[in-house]
Amino acid sequence: MGASARGGPSKKVWPHTWAPRPNLSMTSDNEFHACPRRYWFSYAPSEFKKQHFSNEIRVQYSLLPWNALAGIVVDDIIRADLRGYLAQRHWIEDLYGAAKDRLAEYRVNTRNWRPEAREGKDYPFGRPNLVDRFYYDDKPPTKEDGAKVKEIIERSLENYTASGLRDYFLAYGTDAWRITLPIKDQPVPWFRMGEVPVYASYDFAIDSPEITLVVDWKTGQQNQWSERKASEQLHTYAGFAMAEWGATLDKLWIMPVWLGAGSQWEPIRVDPSILEAQKRRFAERFADLVPRCRAVDRDPMAMETLFPMTDNLKACADCKFRACPGYSRVAAAAIEPTLASDREEVE
Ligand code: SF4
Repeated sequence: MGASARGGPSKKVWPHTWAPRPNLSMTSDNEFHACPRRYWFSYAPSEFKKQHFSNEIRVQYSLLPWNALAGIVVDDIIRADLRGYLAQRHWIEDLYGAAKDRLAEYRVNTRNWRPEAREGKDYPFGRPNLVDRFYYDDKPPTKEDGAKVKEIIERSLENYTASGLRDYFLAYGTDAWRITLPIKDQPVPWFRMGEVPVYASYDFAIDSPEITLVVDWKTGQQNQWSERKASEQLHTYAGFAMAEWGATLDKLWIMPVWLGAGSQWEPIRVDPSILEAQKRRFAERFADLVPRCRAVDRDPMAMETLFPMTDNLKACADCKFRACPGYSRVAAAAIEPTLASDREEVE
């Protein structure tokens, strides 16, 4: 191994290939916890999906919950702003204008795909997610719903502009910037936590000899629950920075930026006890998943018992996989679908 600017092991070259299966992330672990069948619909190998899942299930996999739309658009635009600066040395002047165009793209793309989906076509890999409330007919967004999403986006982008973060990032030099590319251009970053392949889809990072700082943009409500979730997510990314960039705890920081709440931000120290707890959690889930996946490889019908449907019909009521037999129980039990979701990130 060579020596890096830190004097530690040399950095590995990015990009990698895709992570071997099974793999984990905070999102996929939460999915398994909510419903093992939902996990399998999302994370089964592509060959298995092609042979054993209906076209509707495969298309529904690409659906984004309405409540995550504002966050995704803000992520897209800030990423474009930072990438644009890297490429052309100037910032996007009208961030909100760019965001409105992007929002329209999600709407038009989803509406246009509906007839194609009915003809049984697979949704092309790497295209922007389809949006559930544009895709399904039962609860199309009202003008008020649309105005609320736009208001979150506008406020978040105003706070980003006012935050001074562009200058703060520039002070470390653009060579230290780490920005991921869309998945059609680059696999999602991943690393090994012990023996477990773990995805770390970070938004933005600085990796310099002085500091490593991993940033996550947040547009949702800031409260105890969301702060804990953000911290867990960022600790996974911190694990990635340690494994892939040789970051050390004394120089490693994480930073959720709560764009809905103002333009203040503050880097936070990484907590080794959270890293350890994650390592244990992922190792346990992995040890449980590997034999299940192997058994389903040998006998696809074993999916029924090894990745069972949840009994929690509230989880089904908000599930995007409406072609799942479990979803029909929602109507029978007269549970009102809300299409609500507290997920902000989609990997
Ligand atoms: S509809 Fe229910 S059982 Fe089916 S995948 Fe979704 S949460 Fe699981």
